[in-house]
Amino acid sequence: SVTIEQYDPELAAAIADENQRQQDHVELIASENYVSCAVMEAQGSQLTNKYAEGYPGKRYYGGCEHVDVAEQLAIDRLKQLFGGEYVNVQPHSGSQANQAVYTSVLKPGDTIMGMSLAHGGHLTHGASVNISGKLYNVISYGLDENEVLDYAEVERLALEHKPKMIVAGASAYALEIDWARFREIADKVGAYLFVDMAHYAGLIAGGEYPSPVPFADFVTTTTHKTLRGPRGGVIICKTDEHAKALNSAIFPSLQGGPLMHVIAAKAVAFKEALQPEFKTYAKQVKANAKVLAETLIARGLRIVSGRTESHMFLVDLQPKKITGKDAEAVLGKAHITVNKNAIPNDPEKPFVTSGVRLGTAAITTRGFGEAETRELGNLIADVLDAPQDEAVIAATAAKVQALCSKLPVYGN
Ligand code: PLP
Repeated sequence: SVTIEQYDPELAAAIADENQRQQDHVELIASENYVSCAVMEAQGSQLTNKYAEGYPGKRYYGGCEHVDVAEQLAIDRLKQLFGGEYVNVQPHSGSQANQAVYTSVLKPGDTIMGMSLAHGGHLTHGASVNISGKLYNVISYGLDENEVLDYAEVERLALEHKPKMIVAGASAYALEIDWARFREIADKVGAYLFVDMAHYAGLIAGGEYPSPVPFADFVTTTTHKTLRGPRGGVIICKTDEHAKALNSAIFPSLQGGPLMHVIAAKAVAFKEALQPEFKTYAKQVKANAKVLAETLIARGLRIVSGRTESHMFLVDLQPKKITGKDAEAVLGKAHITVNKNAIPNDPEKPFVTSGVRLGTAAITTRGFGEAETRELGNLIADVLDAPQDEAVIAATAAKVQALCSKLPVYGN
C-alpha cells in the first residue's frame, strides 16, 4: 500500500502542517475539540467503502451485517448517554439533523421561533440566509437588557404568533438554558419544542449542564464539539412517536448512504463519553471556562451575560478599543486561535464585530487545568492591551509555545 506521503506529497504536507498548527496553537474556538486516536482510527477505517442505505436490519444493499453492528453500537450507546427512546445517528452534520427535524413535522410556510443569530442563535434556527429561514416563517427572540435569554419575550412572541415549533439552543450563549421554561411556553401554544444542544452536549453527557431530553419533543446535537466525537450530527427523542417521520426525513428525504466510518467513530466517542473520566473532563471544561472569564474580567474586559455557566462565553472587546476582527488576527499571531463574534447589539458589521467567542473544550482535552488557563487568560489580555506591540506579541507566542510543548495534543 502506498502512503499519502509517497503518493501525494503536496497533500501530505498540508496535513502535516495542520497537525503542527494544532500542536503549536492554543485552540479556543468554542465549537472545536481534539478527538481520540481511536475515533480517528474508526473514521479512517474500511467502513468508508460501504453503502448502507436504510437502517440496521433494513438495508437496500447486501453485505451490511458488520456495519449494522457498528450502527447499532452507536445507537445503543447514544440512548444510554442521553436517555432517549429514539435516536438517529446518521445525520452527516448538525445542520442536516436540524433540517430533518423541521422536515419531519413542518410544512413550508409554517411558523417557527428561534434565537436570533445576532443574539447567539445558530444559522439553522431560522436565519434568513439558511434554508430554515427561507422555508419557514421565522419569529426570532433574543436576550434581555441583562444579556440573559428573554423568556418573557419568548412567551409573549409565542402567544402572539402561535408557532408550530419553538427552537431552543445556541451557538454563543454562556448561561444555562431553562429547558423546563421553554416546555411550559411551548405547551401554552401547542408548539413542538426542539432543542439543538450542539454546543452543550458534552457537558450534558458529563452531568455538568441540564439535559433537555426530558423536556423536548426533538433534540439534536453535533458530535464534534464538547462531545468530542467525529464531525457529524445525531437526533434524540424521549419517545419514538416521531421515529418514522425522522427516519424518512434523514433517508431518503435529505441524505443517501450513511457515512458508516463516521457512525463507527461516533460509537467510539459515545463509549468514551460514557466513562467516568468524561465526567471529570466536563467538570474541568467548565472550571477552565470560569477561570478564563474571571481572569479576563480582572484584566478589564467585559464578558457578555457577566459570567459563564458552560464551556464558552463572549468577550466584549470595546473596553480595549479593538474590534473582533483585529483581535482574532493579533491573537492568531501569538498562536492563540479564536473566532470573532458579534456581541448583542453590536455596533460593528458582522465581518468586523466587537467580540470574540472563547471556549475551553479543546484546551481541556489537551490537559489544561485552571493554572494553565489562568496563565493563558493573562497572555490574551497582554496581547489585547498592546495589539500593535510586536515585542509583546512575540513574547506571548513564545510563552504559548511553552504551554503547548508542555501539553502536546496527541502526546509525543
Ligand atoms: N447547531 C448549533 C447550535 C451549532 O453551533 C452548529 C455549528 O456551529 C450547528 C448546529 C451546525 O453543525 P454543522 O456545522 O455540523 O452543520
